[in-house]
Amino acid sequence: MTYDCVITGSGPAGLGTAFALLEKKPKSKILILESGEVSSGGLRNDCKMNWTFPIGFPLDYWNEKNAVPYLQRLEHFLNPLILEKDNVEVYARRAGRIGVTLLRVRQAHLGTDGGILLIKRLTKELEERGVEIALAESLVNVDADSHTAQTSKREVKYKALVVAPGRRGFDFLRNLMKSLKIEFSDNSIDVGIRVETTAERYSIVRDYYDPKFLFPESTRTFCTNSGNAHVVQEKYLSKSGTTYYSVNGHAFSQNRTPNGLVNFAILRSVSFTEPIASGQDYAEYLASLAMLSGGGKPLMQRIGDFRLGRRTTRNALNDDLYDFKPTLNDATPGDISLAIPAKFLNSIWKSLKKLDTIVPGVLHPATIMYYPEIKLYANKPVFINEFFMAACDVYLIGDGAGTSRGITGAWASGMRAAEGIISRE
Ligand SMILES: Cc1cc2nc3c(=O)[nH]c(=O)nc-3n(C[C@H](O)[C@H](O)[C@H](O)COP(=O)(O)OP(=O)(O)OC[C@H]3O[C@@H](n4cnc5c(N)ncnc54)[C@H](O)[C@@H]3O)c2cc1C
Repeated sequence: MTYDCVITGSGPAGLGTAFALLEKKPKSKILILESGEVSSGGLRNDCKMNWTFPIGFPLDYWNEKNAVPYLQRLEHFLNPLILEKDNVEVYARRAGRIGVTLLRVRQAHLGTDGGILLIKRLTKELEERGVEIALAESLVNVDADSHTAQTSKREVKYKALVVAPGRRGFDFLRNLMKSLKIEFSDNSIDVGIRVETTAERYSIVRDYYDPKFLFPESTRTFCTNSGNAHVVQEKYLSKSGTTYYSVNGHAFSQNRTPNGLVNFAILRSVSFTEPIASGQDYAEYLASLAMLSGGGKPLMQRIGDFRLGRRTTRNALNDDLYDFKPTLNDATPGDISLAIPAKFLNSIWKSLKKLDTIVPGVLHPATIMYYPEIKLYANKPVFINEFFMAACDVYLIGDGAGTSRGITGAWASGMRAAEGIISRE
Protein backbone atom coordinates (compact mmCIF):
# COMPACT_ATOMS: atom_id res chain seq x y z
CA MET A 1 0.00 0.00 0.00
CA THR A 2 1.16 3.55 -0.70
CA TYR A 3 0.32 6.13 1.95
CA ASP A 4 -0.81 9.57 0.84
CA CYS A 5 1.36 10.93 3.61
CA VAL A 6 3.85 9.46 6.06
CA ILE A 7 4.49 11.82 8.96
CA THR A 8 7.55 11.35 11.16
CA GLY A 9 7.00 12.60 14.69
CA SER A 10 3.72 12.94 16.54
CA GLY A 11 4.53 16.35 18.07
CA PRO A 12 2.50 19.45 17.26
CA ALA A 13 4.12 19.81 13.82
CA GLY A 14 3.13 16.26 12.86
CA LEU A 15 -0.37 16.65 14.31
CA GLY A 16 -0.79 19.97 12.49
CA THR A 17 -0.02 18.24 9.19
CA ALA A 18 -2.39 15.36 9.83
CA PHE A 19 -5.37 17.49 10.87
CA ALA A 20 -4.85 19.97 8.02
CA LEU A 21 -4.66 17.16 5.45
CA LEU A 22 -7.82 15.54 6.82
CA GLU A 23 -9.64 18.86 6.76
CA LYS A 24 -9.17 19.16 3.00
CA LYS A 25 -8.94 15.44 2.12
CA PRO A 26 -10.84 13.41 4.72
CA LYS A 27 -10.05 10.12 2.98
CA SER A 28 -6.26 10.59 3.04
CA LYS A 29 -4.29 7.51 4.06
CA ILE A 30 -1.92 8.80 6.71
CA LEU A 31 0.72 6.99 8.76
CA ILE A 32 2.34 8.72 11.74
CA LEU A 33 5.65 7.22 12.85
CA GLU A 34 6.64 7.96 16.43
CA SER A 35 9.90 6.66 17.85
CA GLY A 36 8.64 7.08 21.42
CA GLU A 37 6.46 4.61 23.30
CA VAL A 38 3.90 7.39 23.74
CA SER A 39 2.61 10.05 21.45
CA SER A 40 2.85 13.75 20.80
CA GLY A 41 6.34 14.99 21.58
CA GLY A 42 6.57 18.40 23.14
CA LEU A 43 2.85 18.74 23.86
CA ARG A 44 3.60 16.60 26.91
CA ASN A 45 5.63 19.40 28.52
CA ASP A 46 3.82 22.23 30.22
CA CYS A 47 1.74 23.04 27.16
CA LYS A 48 1.57 26.76 27.37
CA MET A 49 0.59 28.12 24.02
CA ASN A 50 1.51 31.53 22.71
CA TRP A 51 -1.04 33.09 20.40
CA THR A 52 0.74 36.29 19.40
CA PHE A 53 3.04 36.51 16.40
CA PRO A 54 6.10 36.30 16.33
CA ILE A 55 6.44 34.20 19.50
CA GLY A 56 7.47 30.74 18.33
CA PHE A 57 7.71 31.78 14.65
CA PRO A 58 11.29 32.24 13.32
CA LEU A 59 11.35 35.35 11.14
CA ASP A 60 13.47 33.61 8.49
CA TYR A 61 10.32 31.80 7.40
CA TRP A 62 7.38 33.72 8.80
CA ASN A 63 5.89 37.18 8.69
CA GLU A 64 2.71 38.49 10.23
CA LYS A 65 0.81 38.09 6.99
CA ASN A 66 1.57 34.41 6.45
CA ALA A 67 1.54 33.34 10.13
CA VAL A 68 -1.58 34.97 11.56
CA PRO A 69 -4.13 33.07 9.40
CA TYR A 70 -2.64 29.77 10.67
CA LEU A 71 -2.72 30.99 14.26
CA GLN A 72 -6.37 31.96 13.84
CA ARG A 73 -7.30 28.61 12.33
CA LEU A 74 -5.49 26.76 15.10
CA GLU A 75 -7.08 28.87 17.81
CA HIS A 76 -10.48 28.12 16.35
CA PHE A 77 -9.63 24.40 16.31
CA LEU A 78 -8.18 24.11 19.84
CA ASN A 79 -10.35 26.77 21.44
CA PRO A 80 -7.83 27.64 24.20
CA LEU A 81 -8.69 29.53 27.36
CA ILE A 82 -6.68 32.76 27.05
CA LEU A 83 -5.20 33.88 30.36
CA GLU A 84 -5.91 37.33 31.80
CA LYS A 85 -3.01 39.76 32.34
CA ASP A 86 -2.89 42.52 34.94
CA ASN A 87 -0.66 45.53 35.60
CA VAL A 88 1.24 44.95 32.37
CA GLU A 89 1.57 48.68 31.72
CA VAL A 90 3.28 49.16 35.09
CA TYR A 91 5.92 46.53 34.34
CA ALA A 92 6.29 47.71 30.75
CA ARG A 93 6.94 51.30 31.90
CA ARG A 94 9.56 50.18 34.40
CA ALA A 95 11.18 48.03 31.73
CA GLY A 96 11.12 50.78 29.11
CA ARG A 97 13.04 53.15 31.40
CA ILE A 98 16.04 50.81 31.43
CA GLY A 99 16.01 49.77 27.80
CA VAL A 100 14.00 46.55 28.19
CA THR A 101 10.87 45.66 26.23
CA LEU A 102 7.98 43.66 27.67
CA LEU A 103 6.02 41.89 24.96
CA ARG A 104 2.27 41.53 25.42
CA VAL A 105 1.49 37.97 24.40
CA ARG A 106 -1.84 36.18 24.42
CA GLN A 107 -1.28 32.90 26.25
CA ALA A 108 -3.06 29.76 27.32
CA HIS A 109 -1.70 27.20 29.76
CA LEU A 110 -2.82 23.59 30.04
CA GLY A 111 0.04 22.32 32.19
CA THR A 112 1.79 18.99 31.74
CA ASP A 113 -1.24 17.02 32.96
CA GLY A 114 -3.64 19.08 30.81
CA GLY A 115 -1.34 18.57 27.79
CA ILE A 116 -1.55 14.80 28.21
CA LEU A 117 -5.36 14.95 28.19
CA LEU A 118 -5.24 17.08 25.02
CA ILE A 119 -2.92 14.55 23.34
CA LYS A 120 -5.28 11.69 24.20
CA ARG A 121 -8.20 13.58 22.71
CA LEU A 122 -6.32 14.51 19.53
CA THR A 123 -4.77 11.11 18.87
CA LYS A 124 -8.10 9.38 19.52
CA GLU A 125 -9.74 11.69 17.02
CA LEU A 126 -7.04 10.97 14.42
CA GLU A 127 -7.39 7.21 14.89
CA GLU A 128 -11.16 7.45 14.59
CA ARG A 129 -10.63 9.25 11.31
CA GLY A 130 -8.47 6.40 10.01
CA VAL A 131 -4.94 7.64 10.73
CA GLU A 132 -2.46 4.92 11.72
CA ILE A 133 -0.24 5.94 14.62
CA ALA A 134 2.76 3.60 14.85
CA LEU A 135 4.40 4.02 18.26
CA ALA A 136 7.95 2.83 18.95
CA GLU A 137 8.65 2.91 15.22
CA SER A 138 11.28 5.30 13.87
CA LEU A 139 12.04 6.63 10.46
CA VAL A 140 15.54 5.41 9.63
CA ASN A 141 16.20 6.32 6.03
CA VAL A 142 14.54 7.64 2.90
CA ASP A 143 14.88 6.97 -0.80
CA ALA A 144 13.34 10.09 -2.30
CA ASP A 145 13.57 8.79 -5.89
CA SER A 146 11.40 5.75 -5.23
CA HIS A 147 9.34 7.50 -2.51
CA THR A 148 10.24 4.79 0.00
CA ALA A 149 10.79 5.24 3.71
CA GLN A 150 12.77 2.71 5.70
CA THR A 151 11.50 2.50 9.29
CA SER A 152 12.91 0.52 12.20
CA LYS A 153 10.31 -2.18 11.37
CA ARG A 154 9.46 -2.11 7.65
CA GLU A 155 9.60 -0.34 4.34
CA VAL A 156 6.71 1.96 3.43
CA LYS A 157 5.79 3.78 0.24
CA TYR A 158 4.56 7.34 0.39
CA LYS A 159 3.31 10.08 -1.90
CA ALA A 160 4.47 12.75 0.54
CA LEU A 161 6.81 12.46 3.50
CA VAL A 162 6.79 14.95 6.36
CA VAL A 163 9.71 14.85 8.77
CA ALA A 164 9.07 16.60 12.10
CA PRO A 165 11.42 15.00 14.63
CA GLY A 166 11.70 17.93 17.07
CA ARG A 167 14.83 19.19 18.76
CA ARG A 168 15.84 15.75 19.97
CA GLY A 169 15.75 14.63 16.37
CA PHE A 170 18.18 17.39 15.39
CA ASP A 171 21.05 15.02 14.72
CA PHE A 172 18.84 12.48 12.94
CA LEU A 173 17.56 15.23 10.67
CA ARG A 174 21.04 16.42 9.82
CA ASN A 175 22.06 12.91 8.81
CA LEU A 176 18.91 12.56 6.75
CA MET A 177 19.56 15.88 5.00
CA LYS A 178 23.09 14.76 4.20
CA SER A 179 21.86 11.47 2.75
CA LEU A 180 19.21 13.28 0.67
CA LYS A 181 21.77 15.91 -0.39
CA ILE A 182 19.66 18.70 1.08
CA GLU A 183 21.82 21.72 1.77
CA PHE A 184 21.51 23.34 5.19
CA SER A 185 23.19 25.85 7.43
CA ASP A 186 23.41 25.89 11.19
CA ASN A 187 25.06 29.06 12.37
CA SER A 188 23.11 30.28 15.37
CA ILE A 189 22.48 29.07 18.88
CA ASP A 190 20.65 30.05 22.08
CA VAL A 191 22.55 29.48 25.31
CA GLY A 192 21.41 30.36 28.76
CA ILE A 193 20.43 29.42 32.25
CA ARG A 194 17.22 28.47 34.00
CA VAL A 195 16.35 30.53 37.04
CA GLU A 196 14.34 29.04 39.90
CA THR A 197 12.94 31.10 42.73
CA THR A 198 9.81 31.55 44.81
CA ALA A 199 6.65 32.99 43.31
CA GLU A 200 6.84 35.71 45.96
CA ARG A 201 10.20 36.89 44.59
CA TYR A 202 9.08 36.84 40.96
CA SER A 203 5.62 38.13 41.70
CA ILE A 204 4.93 39.24 38.11
CA VAL A 205 3.76 35.69 37.43
CA ARG A 206 0.58 36.45 39.35
CA ASP A 207 -0.20 39.09 36.71
CA TYR A 208 1.32 37.58 33.58
CA TYR A 209 1.89 33.81 33.24
CA ASP A 210 4.91 33.83 30.92
CA PRO A 211 6.26 37.40 30.74
CA LYS A 212 8.48 37.87 27.70
CA PHE A 213 11.19 40.45 28.37
CA LEU A 214 13.61 41.46 25.62
CA PHE A 215 16.92 42.76 26.99
CA PRO A 216 19.82 44.31 25.08
CA GLU A 217 22.40 41.97 23.50
CA SER A 218 19.83 39.53 22.06
CA THR A 219 18.94 38.23 25.50
CA ARG A 220 15.41 37.34 26.58
CA THR A 221 13.29 35.56 29.15
CA PHE A 222 11.73 32.38 27.86
CA CYS A 223 9.31 29.70 29.03
CA THR A 224 8.23 30.82 32.49
CA ASN A 225 6.46 28.25 34.65
CA SER A 226 4.63 28.75 37.91
CA GLY A 227 1.90 27.17 40.01
CA ASN A 228 3.23 23.66 40.48
CA ALA A 229 6.51 24.28 38.64
CA HIS A 230 9.55 22.06 38.18
CA VAL A 231 12.97 22.27 36.58
CA VAL A 232 13.78 19.18 34.54
CA GLN A 233 16.70 17.85 32.54
CA GLU A 234 16.51 16.58 28.98
CA LYS A 235 18.95 13.94 27.85
CA TYR A 236 20.75 14.33 24.52
CA LEU A 237 23.27 12.24 22.64
CA SER A 238 26.06 14.19 20.98
CA LYS A 239 27.38 13.38 17.52
CA SER A 240 30.34 11.66 19.12
CA GLY A 241 27.99 9.47 21.17
CA THR A 242 28.39 11.08 24.59
CA THR A 243 25.41 11.94 26.76
CA TYR A 244 24.71 15.46 27.88
CA TYR A 245 21.82 17.22 29.58
CA SER A 246 20.09 20.50 28.96
CA VAL A 247 17.74 21.90 31.59
CA ASN A 248 14.18 22.98 30.91
CA GLY A 249 11.05 23.67 32.92
CA HIS A 250 7.37 22.79 33.09
CA ALA A 251 4.37 23.19 35.35
CA PHE A 252 1.23 21.24 36.07
CA SER A 253 -2.23 22.68 35.55
CA GLN A 254 -4.07 24.79 38.07
CA ASN A 255 -5.72 21.62 39.39
CA ARG A 256 -2.51 20.75 41.26
CA THR A 257 -1.59 22.35 44.58
CA PRO A 258 1.00 25.09 43.91
CA ASN A 259 4.54 24.41 45.17
CA GLY A 260 5.21 28.15 45.48
CA LEU A 261 8.03 28.11 42.94
CA VAL A 262 8.70 29.71 39.57
CA ASN A 263 11.23 28.90 36.90
CA PHE A 264 12.14 30.60 33.65
CA ALA A 265 15.02 30.68 31.19
CA ILE A 266 17.23 33.61 30.24
CA LEU A 267 18.78 32.92 26.86
CA ARG A 268 21.20 34.79 24.67
CA SER A 269 21.17 34.18 20.90
CA VAL A 270 24.40 34.27 18.95
CA SER A 271 24.94 33.86 15.22
CA PHE A 272 28.35 32.63 14.24
CA THR A 273 30.52 33.71 11.37
CA GLU A 274 33.57 31.97 9.97
CA PRO A 275 35.43 29.92 11.08
CA ILE A 276 32.69 28.43 13.29
CA ALA A 277 30.61 26.40 10.88
CA SER A 278 28.22 24.56 13.14
CA GLY A 279 26.08 25.78 16.03
CA GLN A 280 25.52 22.18 17.01
CA ASP A 281 29.24 21.46 17.32
CA TYR A 282 29.65 24.56 19.44
CA ALA A 283 26.65 23.67 21.62
CA GLU A 284 27.94 20.15 22.17
CA TYR A 285 31.33 21.51 23.14
CA LEU A 286 29.70 23.84 25.70
CA ALA A 287 27.50 21.06 27.01
CA SER A 288 30.49 18.75 27.45
CA LEU A 289 32.29 21.46 29.44
CA ALA A 290 29.20 21.82 31.63
CA MET A 291 29.07 18.02 32.12
CA LEU A 292 32.77 18.01 33.02
CA SER A 293 32.20 20.75 35.61
CA GLY A 294 29.07 19.10 36.98
CA GLY A 295 30.29 15.49 37.08
CA GLY A 296 27.95 14.47 34.26
CA LYS A 297 24.97 16.52 35.46
CA PRO A 298 23.78 20.10 34.97
CA LEU A 299 25.17 22.68 37.40
CA MET A 300 23.23 24.75 39.90
CA GLN A 301 24.41 27.77 41.82
CA ARG A 302 22.65 30.06 44.27
CA ILE A 303 22.75 33.77 43.45
CA GLY A 304 24.26 34.46 46.89
CA ASP A 305 27.27 32.27 46.10
CA PHE A 306 27.56 33.59 42.56
CA ARG A 307 27.76 37.17 43.87
CA LEU A 308 30.53 36.15 46.28
CA GLY A 309 32.39 34.39 43.45
CA ARG A 310 32.28 31.00 45.13
CA ARG A 311 30.72 27.67 44.28
CA THR A 312 27.53 26.39 45.85
CA THR A 313 27.97 23.24 47.93
CA ARG A 314 25.45 20.55 48.84
CA ASN A 315 25.70 21.55 52.54
CA ALA A 316 25.07 25.21 51.81
CA LEU A 317 21.77 24.29 50.18
CA ASN A 318 20.43 23.72 53.70
CA ASP A 319 21.54 27.12 54.96
CA ASP A 320 18.80 29.22 56.58
CA LEU A 321 19.04 31.85 53.86
CA TYR A 322 18.51 29.22 51.22
CA ASP A 323 14.89 28.66 51.99
CA PHE A 324 13.63 26.36 49.24
CA LYS A 325 14.83 23.06 47.86
CA PRO A 326 15.88 22.85 44.21
CA THR A 327 13.28 20.95 42.20
CA LEU A 328 16.06 19.49 40.03
CA ASN A 329 17.86 18.05 43.03
CA ASP A 330 19.90 15.84 40.73
CA ALA A 331 21.85 18.87 39.45
CA THR A 332 25.33 19.37 40.87
CA PRO A 333 25.86 22.34 43.19
CA GLY A 334 28.87 24.18 41.73
CA ASP A 335 30.09 27.24 39.89
CA ILE A 336 28.38 27.98 36.59
CA SER A 337 30.98 30.58 35.63
CA LEU A 338 33.49 27.76 35.17
CA ALA A 339 31.42 26.54 32.26
CA ILE A 340 29.70 29.52 30.54
CA PRO A 341 31.66 31.67 28.08
CA ALA A 342 31.81 35.34 29.12
CA LYS A 343 29.79 36.50 26.11
CA PHE A 344 26.75 34.61 27.39
CA LEU A 345 27.29 35.03 31.12
CA ASN A 346 27.86 38.81 30.97
CA SER A 347 24.68 39.41 28.97
CA ILE A 348 22.67 37.11 31.23
CA TRP A 349 23.91 38.70 34.44
CA LYS A 350 23.27 42.23 33.12
CA SER A 351 19.77 41.15 32.11
CA LEU A 352 19.10 39.61 35.51
CA LYS A 353 20.08 42.85 37.20
CA LYS A 354 17.66 44.73 34.98
CA LEU A 355 14.97 42.17 35.69
CA ASP A 356 15.52 42.68 39.41
CA THR A 357 14.80 46.37 38.89
CA ILE A 358 11.56 45.60 37.08
CA VAL A 359 10.47 42.80 39.45
CA PRO A 360 12.40 43.46 42.67
CA GLY A 361 13.31 40.30 44.53
CA VAL A 362 14.27 37.94 41.77
CA LEU A 363 17.96 38.25 42.66
CA HIS A 364 17.48 37.03 46.23
CA PRO A 365 20.54 35.04 47.43
CA ALA A 366 18.44 31.86 47.47
CA THR A 367 17.51 32.09 43.77
CA ILE A 368 19.09 29.26 41.80
CA MET A 369 20.69 29.41 38.35
CA TYR A 370 20.85 26.09 36.50
CA TYR A 371 23.14 25.59 33.51
CA PRO A 372 23.14 24.62 30.65
CA GLU A 373 19.90 25.45 28.87
CA ILE A 374 20.79 25.18 25.20
CA LYS A 375 18.31 25.41 22.34
CA LEU A 376 19.21 23.67 19.13
CA TYR A 377 16.76 24.77 16.52
CA ALA A 378 19.12 26.26 14.09
CA ASN A 379 19.00 23.69 11.30
CA LYS A 380 18.17 25.77 8.28
CA PRO A 381 17.47 23.52 5.31
CA VAL A 382 17.40 25.07 1.86
CA PHE A 383 13.74 24.69 0.92
CA ILE A 384 12.49 24.22 -2.63
CA ASN A 385 9.24 26.03 -2.01
CA GLU A 386 7.40 28.09 0.59
CA PHE A 387 5.73 24.97 2.01
CA PHE A 388 8.97 23.62 3.51
CA MET A 389 9.57 21.02 0.79
CA ALA A 390 13.31 20.29 0.80
CA ALA A 391 13.53 17.34 -1.63
CA CYS A 392 11.00 15.84 -4.01
CA ASP A 393 7.85 15.41 -1.84
CA VAL A 394 9.90 15.50 1.37
CA TYR A 395 8.91 18.25 3.84
CA LEU A 396 11.02 19.19 6.86
CA ILE A 397 9.17 21.04 9.60
CA GLY A 398 8.93 21.89 13.28
CA ASP A 399 11.59 22.78 15.84
CA GLY A 400 14.09 20.25 14.47
CA ALA A 401 14.03 21.85 11.03
CA GLY A 402 14.06 25.38 12.46
CA THR A 403 10.63 26.35 11.12
CA SER A 404 9.24 26.82 14.65
CA ARG A 405 10.22 27.49 18.25
CA GLY A 406 7.14 26.47 20.15
CA ILE A 407 3.89 24.56 20.02
CA THR A 408 1.78 26.97 17.97
CA GLY A 409 4.57 27.67 15.46
CA ALA A 410 5.21 23.93 15.08
CA TRP A 411 1.53 23.24 14.46
CA ALA A 412 1.38 26.09 11.92
CA SER A 413 4.42 24.62 10.10
CA GLY A 414 2.46 21.39 9.79
CA MET A 415 -0.56 23.18 8.35
CA ARG A 416 1.65 24.96 5.85
CA ALA A 417 3.33 21.72 4.75
CA ALA A 418 -0.12 20.14 4.33
CA GLU A 419 -1.10 22.94 1.97
CA GLY A 420 2.04 22.28 -0.06
CA ILE A 421 1.20 18.57 -0.25
CA ILE A 422 -2.36 19.26 -1.39
CA SER A 423 -1.21 21.82 -3.94
CA ARG A 424 1.02 19.20 -5.63
CA GLU A 425 -1.66 16.54 -5.95
C1 LIG B 1 10.35 20.63 29.07
C2 LIG B 1 9.82 21.40 27.87
C3 LIG B 1 8.84 22.35 28.07
C4 LIG B 1 8.32 23.04 26.97
N1 LIG B 1 7.33 23.92 27.17
C5 LIG B 1 6.76 24.54 26.12
C6 LIG B 1 5.64 25.37 26.30
O1 LIG B 1 5.13 25.49 27.40
N2 LIG B 1 5.14 26.03 25.22
C7 LIG B 1 5.67 25.90 23.96
O2 LIG B 1 5.15 26.53 23.01
N3 LIG B 1 6.72 25.09 23.75
C8 LIG B 1 7.26 24.40 24.79
N4 LIG B 1 8.32 23.56 24.59
C9 LIG B 1 8.81 23.43 23.22
C10 LIG B 1 7.83 22.57 22.42
O3 LIG B 1 7.75 21.34 23.05
C11 LIG B 1 8.33 22.46 20.99
O4 LIG B 1 8.43 23.74 20.42
C12 LIG B 1 7.37 21.63 20.11
O5 LIG B 1 7.01 20.44 20.74
C13 LIG B 1 8.02 21.34 18.76
O6 LIG B 1 7.17 20.50 18.04
P1 LIG B 1 7.70 19.46 16.95
O7 LIG B 1 6.50 18.75 16.46
O8 LIG B 1 8.59 20.16 16.02
O9 LIG B 1 8.65 18.45 17.76
P2 LIG B 1 8.34 17.52 19.02
O10 LIG B 1 7.17 17.98 19.77
O11 LIG B 1 9.62 17.40 19.75
O12 LIG B 1 7.96 16.12 18.39
C14 LIG B 1 8.88 15.37 17.65
C15 LIG B 1 8.52 13.92 17.80
O13 LIG B 1 9.24 13.19 16.81
C16 LIG B 1 9.66 11.97 17.37
N5 LIG B 1 10.81 11.51 16.59
C17 LIG B 1 12.08 12.01 16.57
N6 LIG B 1 12.84 11.36 15.68
C18 LIG B 1 12.03 10.42 15.12
C19 LIG B 1 12.24 9.41 14.13
N7 LIG B 1 13.42 9.25 13.53
N8 LIG B 1 11.20 8.60 13.80
C20 LIG B 1 9.98 8.75 14.40
N9 LIG B 1 9.74 9.68 15.36
C21 LIG B 1 10.75 10.50 15.70
C22 LIG B 1 9.99 12.33 18.81
O14 LIG B 1 9.94 11.19 19.65
C23 LIG B 1 8.90 13.34 19.14
O15 LIG B 1 7.76 12.75 19.72
C24 LIG B 1 8.84 22.82 25.67
C25 LIG B 1 9.83 21.86 25.47
C26 LIG B 1 10.30 21.14 26.56
C27 LIG B 1 11.34 20.09 26.31
